[in-house]
Amino acid sequence: MAALSLVSNAAAPPARASTPQEALDRLRAGNDNWVRGRARRPDASLPRREELARRQEPVAVVFTCIDSRVPPELVFDQGLGDLLVVRTAAHTHDSLVAGSLEYGPAELATRLLVVLGHQRCGAVSAAVQAFRSGDAPPGHLADVTEDLRPAYEEALGQGPAPEQLIEATVRAQTRQTVTRLRTDRLLRPLLAAGALEIVGGYYSLDTGAVAISR
Ligand SMILES: [Zn+2]
Repeated sequence: MAALSLVSNAAAPPARASTPQEALDRLRAGNDNWVRGRARRPDASLPRREELARRQEPVAVVFTCIDSRVPPELVFDQGLGDLLVVRTAAHTHDSLVAGSLEYGPAELATRLLVVLGHQRCGAVSAAVQAFRSGDAPPGHLADVTEDLRPAYEEALGQGPAPEQLIEATVRAQTRQTVTRLRTDRLLRPLLAAGALEIVGGYYSLDTGAVAISR
């Protein structure tokens, strides 16, 4: 079976996504495979690797957390050359990260950018604890925490139950990141022209499912 699937991947590499909707459909289909335990692990063949050696046409940019349980290629069942992945703790971001996020849409005509938050995010959990206790984390962990303050304050303003505050902060961080990226100087014209869509997502560690919000 493994050999058969390699042959089929080599014979028909997936066409690039020419619209944001096509890209989103591909990621949704891949995540559905992942959820059902039927991941195909595509685009890992030797011919595909050779084909990609001199060019790339990734389907989407995924901006997500460093968490070891949220690897985008597995979660969306994509392979070599399919995703541009940018990962920082709780997808916090600064101008260097913004440049990496701009690269696909601006230089490679990538049509979709997914900002993916996730369940039980350790970085968000640590930040919420730090805000509550007033004790700043050591080293540059404090920078990560500080970047999460606006999301924490938005979540707090919604008056969630205490046990829901961390998840509410994760979701606020995703919303705020999407909003911020939609005003990005390079990305905004692409959005206006329909050549790019930026969506938020929430990954459930329990089920493997990604819920997309537009
Ligand atoms: Zn995380």
